[in-house]
Amino acid sequence: MSPRRKPHAAKQFIRPLLQRLHAYVPGEQPKIEGLIKLNTNENPYPPSPKVLAAIKKSADTRLRLYPNPTAEPLRQELAKLHGCKPENIIVGNGSDELLAMAVRAFVEPVPAAQSSIPGRLLGKSLVQFFHPSYSLYPVLASIHGARANAVPLNNNFSLPKMKELKRARQWSFHAALSFITTPNAPSGYGYSTASLKEICESQKGVVVLDEAYSDFARENALALAFEHPHVLIARTFSKAYSLCFQRVGYFVGCRELIGALDKLRDSYNVNGLGQIAALATLDDLPYYRANFQKIIATRKRLSQALAALGFEVFPSQTNFILVRPPQFPAREWLQKLREQKILVRWFDAPVLRDFLRISMGTSGEARALVKAAKRI
Ligand code: PMP
Repeated sequence: MSPRRKPHAAKQFIRPLLQRLHAYVPGEQPKIEGLIKLNTNENPYPPSPKVLAAIKKSADTRLRLYPNPTAEPLRQELAKLHGCKPENIIVGNGSDELLAMAVRAFVEPVPAAQSSIPGRLLGKSLVQFFHPSYSLYPVLASIHGARANAVPLNNNFSLPKMKELKRARQWSFHAALSFITTPNAPSGYGYSTASLKEICESQKGVVVLDEAYSDFARENALALAFEHPHVLIARTFSKAYSLCFQRVGYFVGCRELIGALDKLRDSYNVNGLGQIAALATLDDLPYYRANFQKIIATRKRLSQALAALGFEVFPSQTNFILVRPPQFPAREWLQKLREQKILVRWFDAPVLRDFLRISMGTSGEARALVKAAKRI
């Protein structure tokens, strides 16, 4: 840095919107020897041996070449899996990238000079979601200069009934974009397709059903993306398919919306090894389905064991559970578990402060957690 330019002077170059922004806070990735890491919903089981072999085989001089720009071979295989056309699918650098693109594609930013917007334009600038759900959505709205509408879920984290949504008037049926995490995070609550269908059918704007955890659930709402042109389904290889590191996610929807997203996609948004890993994953689905069953079994056992110790455990359709711990505040539990080398997630947010979110580890890791909780 030039000695003549003071560091604080650089602030003037940063957009006010960004200066004010509260950025997304991901879960920690500490490197602690022997740590049992149950804080970021990663899959405790490794990718299939076929996936590891495919990546190793491809890590050669080909790395100097650009990957397929539209992830065409992967989109073809995903289309076969879901019974649609490749034009109905867009692949992203994780589903996070696509969630951000959806905001850019479907939501009008509020002009910087305009503090109040005329009523008829309100919906066009509105990004809507239930609260609590994935804490990235409000951040994406802020980055874009859009308005965020966080609508509270019921106290037990179930979806408000359509009648209540209409009566309470807090939910907007005109929002440009509504995100619904289903099953929800961090509550783990599984919403019925029938209730999602009812909401989708009332929305005038785009609805993204974020199904990052749907492989661990009883049902999914994929069919809604084929029935309604304004509904997009978001999926990821990160959680159920043990591939967080490679960053591959995708949207399924009608070709017009997918085509619009494709226009603002970076040319080579999905890295080559990620595409290869995802393709090899689709070639070995039985391996993953067996893992889903193990994770669901661990979820049941761990929920029962923690309930027996006085934890309030919320029913989960995901690879994590939300619990209200007994005796000490949740934040203290976080610390006490950490001292025993077990890392779980605590959210410093008003409605979530009393809870811990615990990702499903292997059955051995779940047993270690129960032992630690008994000691505490
Ligand atoms: N949606 C939800 C609800 C999530 O919890 C996550 C993971 N943090 C994502 C989307 C993003 O997943 P990825 O970008 O790894 O595909």
